[in-house]
Amino acid sequence: MSTVPHLTLNNGVEIPQLGFGVFQIPPEDTKDAVLQAFDVGYRHIDTAQSYRNEDGVGEALRESGLAREDVFVTTKLNNGAHAPEAAVEAFERSLERLDTDYVDLFLIHWPLAMLSDFVDTWKALEDIYGSGRAKAIGVSNFQLPHLRRLLVETTILPAVNQIEVHPYLTQRELAAFGREHGIVIEAWSPIGQGTVLDDPTLQRIARDHDRSVAQVTLRWHVQRGHVVFPKSVTRSRVEENFALFDFELSDEDLADIDALNRDERTGPDPDTFDRVPPA
Ligand code: NAD
Repeated sequence: MSTVPHLTLNNGVEIPQLGFGVFQIPPEDTKDAVLQAFDVGYRHIDTAQSYRNEDGVGEALRESGLAREDVFVTTKLNNGAHAPEAAVEAFERSLERLDTDYVDLFLIHWPLAMLSDFVDTWKALEDIYGSGRAKAIGVSNFQLPHLRRLLVETTILPAVNQIEVHPYLTQRELAAFGREHGIVIEAWSPIGQGTVLDDPTLQRIARDHDRSVAQVTLRWHVQRGHVVFPKSVTRSRVEENFALFDFELSDEDLADIDALNRDERTGPDPDTFDRVPPA
């Protein structure tokens, strides 16, 4: 049995707070990487149409022999499929690749506010949610103005906002908005793609707890209420990233980590990101 705690989303769906991200895992390696994560104990997989590895996730789900309801699966809408009919069509292709009747969470991957009307796209996700084929729907890389438009112009509140968060980009405003409106923050690049690993403050806290910097950083996310899904294909790291629930950071540790914020991104800025890969 997994020791991972669950958070309750704003529609009552339960999500494991720790998952396994498969961004940048080549399609041919994804099945084995996900099977390894299942073996370590992960029961939550974060993929996306644009990662081109949903097939591998589906194969791992099938081969693992795990009951479908015991695994939480998230995928995300491709940037080239924001038109409402295209969004529904793309969602149905995801179900085929994942070899499942439903996903637990379906997200708009990027707002792409300069290229399309994400409110219309969100309404397509509301229809998908209504059909029962996504147990929850949410957004990714949405900034405050995007979220405020959804609040005013649509009927279902996103269950999550999946954004870049790590000690160098603490995202205080989006986190506060999420707390106010019941939108869970999912932190992508939770260790800043490795950029935080040499930080002296994190290294000091890691020494104090006899843990690695990655573990201390992931634990900071957990205690801040974020969902995280660190990515690695190296078994020792996959295990290390799973061992977060038998130690606790003090309030002082948490405050010291909060103070590392530099508003520094490692990935694209959602306000200027307008790359549209082929659908
Ligand atoms: P991450 O912060 O998890 O960093 C991954 C890098 O850190 C890899 O190079 C990995 O080898 C290394 N690493 C992992 N564990 C380690 C450890 N214990 N010690 C040392 N190094 C370690 O960043 P990520 O992969 O960018 O993000 C994680 C997940 O977030 C992705 O797999 C994906 O599911 C999701 N994501 C979403 C978006 C989005 O736009 N919604 C964007 C990027 C990532």
